[in-house]
Amino acid sequence: MSGALPKLIDVERFAAKRERIEGVFTVTALDRLMQMAATPDGEVSFALAFFRDDQGRSRVTGAIQGSVMLTCQRCLQPVRHELAGSIELMALADESALSDLPGDVEPLLTEGQPVRLADLVEDEALLALPIVALHPQCLLPSHDKSGNEDGNPFAVLKRKE
Ligand SMILES: [Zn+2]
Repeated sequence: MSGALPKLIDVERFAAKRERIEGVFTVTALDRLMQMAATPDGEVSFALAFFRDDQGRSRVTGAIQGSVMLTCQRCLQPVRHELAGSIELMALADESALSDLPGDVEPLLTEGQPVRLADLVEDEALLALPIVALHPQCLLPSHDKSGNEDGNPFAVLKRKE
């Protein structure tokens, strides 16, 4: 599929036609992710393939990748978080079919309605967020380290990656 991305996806129809779509959302286009973000920078690219499995169930497989700026919980400065996740979904009209779900597949509750593509991608991006965002090497010294008592204590702040 080329051209503009569909806003809404009829998962059953897409699966029947074995549609494949890929694209990019900026973080600013994803409201819930934007609420978690420290700055508007970043984007989430995605690739999705729709298909029917051997039992005729509508499935979505794919991946997301990208980055979002979060707030480091130690120094409260922005920290880039690389997003990556794989997508394995099965469309369910309602929760009554939840017990049929294969172990490695998440439910996509459609209630028989089209789903927003942005929601589908955003749900996966939110799942790929860390519980606590921290710089891998945070500039704020931790309390248990012996500090450089003789140096300028602010020098470390200027050594910005
Ligand atoms: Zn930090």
